[in-house]
Amino acid sequence: MRLVLVGPPGAGKGTQAQYIASNLSIPKISTGDIFRANVSGGTDLGKLAKTYMDRGDLVPDEVTIAMVRDRLSEDDAQDGFLLDGFPRNVAQAEILRDMLKDWGQELDLVLELVVDDDEVVRRLAGRRTCSQCGRIWHVEFDDKKDDKCDACGGALFQRDDDKEETVRHRLEVYQEQTAPLVSYYADEDILVGVDATGPVEEVTQRAMDAIRPFMG
Ligand SMILES: [Zn+2]
Repeated sequence: MRLVLVGPPGAGKGTQAQYIASNLSIPKISTGDIFRANVSGGTDLGKLAKTYMDRGDLVPDEVTIAMVRDRLSEDDAQDGFLLDGFPRNVAQAEILRDMLKDWGQELDLVLELVVDDDEVVRRLAGRRTCSQCGRIWHVEFDDKKDDKCDACGGALFQRDDDKEETVRHRLEVYQEQTAPLVSYYADEDILVGVDATGPVEEVTQRAMDAIRPFMG
């Protein structure tokens, strides 16, 4: 099973990626992990990426693509994989398609986690971080009435990333980037949307139900 997972920030994509990959016994390949592995492993690509990161610049597409290519060439990815964080746009999707084609492979499915914007805001903007131990509490889900950490007594604060305005902006950026990608895969007839609201296990169950018809 060769599968790509897409979804907005706050959709629980990382968690679902892990559960789905483990259910299917395929490696979860996320660009974040590939990046860290290359940088900490001191590979040529990692060193190259680091020169950009050290200057505060974005790592160019070619470098990311080369890292993804290396990772997908590894033994454990030959019978399937779940990609998380790549492709990010139609250009990358076309490169991925050509890459797989060269190896006699193709994507089986693109799973889109669907959560409406207000639900994402409710999830992220309700988060409060402990300034001492870093633990995260949720005003609604943890019924957090005071601004003290239940674990260590530290003061809680709202990270800039979790402020409603920032969350809404991230969602806009996501929609702009991802809408063309989603319609590209819809045209290829391999896109399936999964409702990502509700408990984690239920979302995984829905995802597995959506994946089953595409399994060879
Ligand atoms: Zn704390």
